[in-house]
Amino acid sequence: MQKNERSKIKTITLGCRFNFYESEISRAIIDNLNTNDDIVIINTCSVTHEAERQSKQAVRKAIRENKNSKIIVTGCAAKTSKDYFESLDGVFKVIQNNDKENINAYLNIPQPNSNIDLIEDITAAQNQIFEDRARAFIQIQNGCDHFCSYCIVPFTRGRSHSLPLENILKRVGFFLENGFSELVLSGIDITSYGKDLDYRIELADVIEAILKNYPNQKRLRISSIDPKGISEKLLELLKYEKRIMPHFHLSIQSGDNQVLKAMKRRHTREDIIAFCKQIKLTRNDVVFGADFIAGFPTETDSMFQNTLSLIDEAELSLMHIFPFSSRKETLASKMVQLPQPVISERARLLREKACEAKLKLFESMKGKKIRGIIEKTIDNVSYGKTDSFLPFVIKKAYNSSEIVNVLEIISYNENYLITKKNDN
Ligand code: SF4
Repeated sequence: MQKNERSKIKTITLGCRFNFYESEISRAIIDNLNTNDDIVIINTCSVTHEAERQSKQAVRKAIRENKNSKIIVTGCAAKTSKDYFESLDGVFKVIQNNDKENINAYLNIPQPNSNIDLIEDITAAQNQIFEDRARAFIQIQNGCDHFCSYCIVPFTRGRSHSLPLENILKRVGFFLENGFSELVLSGIDITSYGKDLDYRIELADVIEAILKNYPNQKRLRISSIDPKGISEKLLELLKYEKRIMPHFHLSIQSGDNQVLKAMKRRHTREDIIAFCKQIKLTRNDVVFGADFIAGFPTETDSMFQNTLSLIDEAELSLMHIFPFSSRKETLASKMVQLPQPVISERARLLREKACEAKLKLFESMKGKKIRGIIEKTIDNVSYGKTDSFLPFVIKKAYNSSEIVNVLEIISYNENYLITKKNDN
């Protein structure tokens, strides 16, 4: 949870990167309303039971601590617990996710004289989010049409919708003008980009348009990718376009085909292995990341072993592990649930495996020379990410967003590659 107090608007944000991004959007909109009121925005999360409980707690606390402010509740729990929040004394307004960029949703906030040029201000607001200037996120797609059996997102963020290309290019231009070295194209289900627009366009076209319009843009990243959504055109770009950084985070969730079927995922373990092998043929410095859910209903021990073994077979190195959390709106909540100790133990084993895989990669990189971007410097020690998104540290002061072309990997610890500058 993060608090942010500037002017008379306070934001309290829970959950994913999208929420942090969108909290600043809400702030920019209210900033422009020039209201005299003190406003508190709580951007909630409901991806798990625990996240929803913390969101409710945060709203009750905000009401207690900000008696003279107007309390606005938004985010995913604003959908799944709408009635609850609307019943709370002290809540001024509940705004749904799809209305976060919609000025009208905020309009009954008293505003003596407001002048709105939204796109400009939204983009300007984003400029304030990414303090470290190393990378800026451009959310080009939101919502999802897939309804995987465990996922609450389609219920809370609605159907897939895409940001028109000209808005994307405008935001790219803005961030490059403001000194960002890296841009991350992000979306809830980014490979569905364009399917809702009334002209033929896909993610690969957006990438090509950015690289064509901004030839000096050398560092483009893509947030989490649905393996089954990768078109032939996108695959060619990922394989050969060097301005796309060699790190791909895949939304895999399980390494067992039966579990993937029960999750209503559209890929198989064989698809993952084939994709990773193909990319490795042309980009041997590529690093793969992945999301996994531990303890999905119906998962047996041998099915779980298939998930553990996929990590080796596909050479995955940077994993996010989520213990299964039943969400009542989803199909999976109606399945026979595994005992919680089994879920926790499998999550522990997967995290252990993930750590092993990362350190195995770190070991294989000792002595190699790599390039990286600086994110922050503290007491003359700089921290950053390599092109393949591996965390590194170097005992030298650099500016944030500076690109260091030759770093030699001399050692590593549990968290970082330890490097030194090597211009030889
Ligand atoms: S594709 Fe992702 S966001 Fe969409 S339903 Fe599945 S898990 Fe949720």
